[in-house]
Amino acid sequence: MARPPALIPDRFVALLYHDVHPGEVFAYGRLGRSATMYHISERAFRSQLDVIERCGIRCLSAAAMRACLAGAGTRDGPGLVLCFDDGWRGAVEFAAPALSERGMAAFFFITTGFIGRRFFAGHDGLRRLDPSLFTIGSHGVTHRMLSDLPSDGIVAELSDSRRSLEDLLGRPVNCLSIPGGAADSRVFDIAVAAGYDHIFTSALGMNPTAAGRRGIARIGVRRTTDLATLRRWLAGDLRRERARAALLAAPKRLLGMRTYSRLRRVLLGEAVGREHFFEP
Ligand SMILES: [Zn+2]
Repeated sequence: MARPPALIPDRFVALLYHDVHPGEVFAYGRLGRSATMYHISERAFRSQLDVIERCGIRCLSAAAMRACLAGAGTRDGPGLVLCFDDGWRGAVEFAAPALSERGMAAFFFITTGFIGRRFFAGHDGLRRLDPSLFTIGSHGVTHRMLSDLPSDGIVAELSDSRRSLEDLLGRPVNCLSIPGGAADSRVFDIAVAAGYDHIFTSALGMNPTAAGRRGIARIGVRRTTDLATLRRWLAGDLRRERARAALLAAPKRLLGMRTYSRLRRVLLGEAVGREHFFEP
């Protein structure tokens, strides 16, 4: 298959995954559709990696992504960033080995309060992730929506999770993924002050965005994302998703994030901030 023609070497798409589970169906117990609609099977995941490989796109390591965001471009042709949020066990047990086999780099963002809980990776699994391929970052302590918290609450979420991960891994943790994408300028300022130099959001777009390393845009892979859609994203064509986001942006501005999340959940059967889904 030919390389997607629209790809520009110094820009990249970041894909956001959650869990990758064995078998076609996986019993998540009480976890609702809003959470599991972002989970895909290992078979589907491997098919997606095949597409990425065949397109000749390289999965950027932290160092390669940093260089690209600093203006150096993606040196070895078109690049892509793969992210896994929350710290699901399947991402560590099934996605990471599939990536290792192919030498593909990825980022894992861990909600430290979930470590070792049902469906989530434990300390040993996280420690075993190969640091030469995989970058581990923070995704808060409790997955609370940061923009809803008072400033000292944001500081605690970001500093405590970073410290826990650094203690666990014995190396610095500098990357952050904002839970539920719920960020405002206060959250960004606190994150930078807490020592994060690369901040991943749920904003839609190609990278670098205007915010550069402090606002890395990502597009969420869903159970329903087919290979044609993936190819379109890899070619940098996000028009369909942009149109959908624009439709949802007007009520978001008018209602504020919280009310908007509730409305969207009701209208679309999904949630922007998935803060309640992980409660036991
Ligand atoms: Zn999350």
